[in-house]
Amino acid sequence: MYYVSTRNKALRYTAAQAIAQGLSREGGLFVPETIPTLPERKLEELKGMNYQQRAVYIMGLYLDGFTREELEARAALAYAVPEKFDHPDVAPLRKVDGNTYCLELWHGPTCAFKDMALQMLPHELSLALKKNDEHRTACILVATSGDTGKAALEGFKDVDQTKILVFYPKDGVSDIQKLQMATQEGGNVGVSAVVGNFDDAQTGVKTLFSDEALREELSRRGYFLSSANSINWGRVLPQIVYYISAYCDLLKQGAIQCGEEINICVPTGNFGNILAAYYAKRMGLPVKKLVCASNANNVLTDFIRTGVYDRNRPFYTTVSPSMDILISSNLERLLYLLSGEDDALTADYMAQLSATGRYEVSPAIRAQIQDLFGAGFSTEAQTEAMIGAMKREKDYLIDTHTAVAFEVLRQYRAETGDDTIAVVASTASPFKFCDAVLDALGVTEKQSGTDLLDQLAQVSGVAAPAPLATLKDKQVRFDGWTEKEAMEQVVTDFLR
Ligand SMILES: *Cc1c(COP(=O)(O)O)cnc(C)c1O
Repeated sequence: MYYVSTRNKALRYTAAQAIAQGLSREGGLFVPETIPTLPERKLEELKGMNYQQRAVYIMGLYLDGFTREELEARAALAYAVPEKFDHPDVAPLRKVDGNTYCLELWHGPTCAFKDMALQMLPHELSLALKKNDEHRTACILVATSGDTGKAALEGFKDVDQTKILVFYPKDGVSDIQKLQMATQEGGNVGVSAVVGNFDDAQTGVKTLFSDEALREELSRRGYFLSSANSINWGRVLPQIVYYISAYCDLLKQGAIQCGEEINICVPTGNFGNILAAYYAKRMGLPVKKLVCASNANNVLTDFIRTGVYDRNRPFYTTVSPSMDILISSNLERLLYLLSGEDDALTADYMAQLSATGRYEVSPAIRAQIQDLFGAGFSTEAQTEAMIGAMKREKDYLIDTHTAVAFEVLRQYRAETGDDTIAVVASTASPFKFCDAVLDALGVTEKQSGTDLLDQLAQVSGVAAPAPLATLKDKQVRFDGWTEKEAMEQVVTDFLR
């Protein structure tokens, strides 16, 4: 199976090339040329398998240049229990009430759903390099506002033929996030703070990527720069697995009959996670509606309701920071698919977005989007209220991002009367966002730093996940910082 660019489908690549390269040269995203389908009986068969086996089968459909043995070995490493994931099901499905289930995607080493993909991507990349006969080492550069950096560090830690260097804004991440990165283990990792905000760190990294002299110097030393951000197909693919896996678990629990449609509700930022659910549907998973949940940065809610994407609006900092995004990059893949794989039209929408911050899709695309998706947003007050209500009424402690999804599902059901069994994607452990969760539970006298973990555990009666609870005993390895003008020096020192 080949991969093509959303902006020029004449360019064809193998899976290994698409994963190693990340982004197509003209700026398009790689998509599989055809979408494999799941025979209905296959779901019954997958039902009897564990998560790792389901991942090998589903990812194998898209990675035909990779052998079954290769994928089995990598899935065993990426989703090892208990070394990497603290739950035997890896991505367990929890029943919330008669027609609502919660897919917990945060049982991995950094307690956020990014682990589901970032535990797998480094292995895909390292295999891809071998297949491409690439002998240089990939140096992954990441600018992070918090969650992605730590998940990428854990994923790439000690993976063959890779090194990873993460930059974070010095005063732009929480104490716990900073400590998570500063105590990172592994022989191929580096972390540096940047004086400035997230945009400074991100702009600095982009400048490094476009620096030809630096590329040549690194190549002489046996390195090339690569990226782990969410537009890499290697990150979308492992996310398709857990939606199909959740359906199998519903079958296993006797909640649905095979072939019965379900709804899926996803707290959305860059549109990667919900796009993976759409791919699962296109593969034949019986899904009725995909409900796209946003916070106050509701550019996607407006887009799905009107067909107009307009990023010219105020940016809000919310209690669900991983969804504070105005440009949802992965939407490009959806537009390509819904336009009948019209690469010229997709390129035109993206050009308008970059020139004016706005585009309007054709009536035909809008109609399909409205048929496929429900959409809504949760205000800060609604998010807080939902955390409180879930704890009181269902004895279930959820994080701020997950609360956005539960609130939007509530609105969707009230507006449409559609009470189909729904799976809500839960994207982070509540202990990653102790501060806001304690607020929502009505706690006014809050501790600080890692003491917040103990406080939330005490108030909620739920134990903090081990990777966070043990942070305070870990040794700080990285306490360096740099001015943004000197980031290149940090890279060349790191790759010495
Ligand atoms: C990244 C992230 C999201 C948003 O996912 P997208 O794939 O960008 O839509 C939601 N919740 C959490 C906790 C995240 O880390």
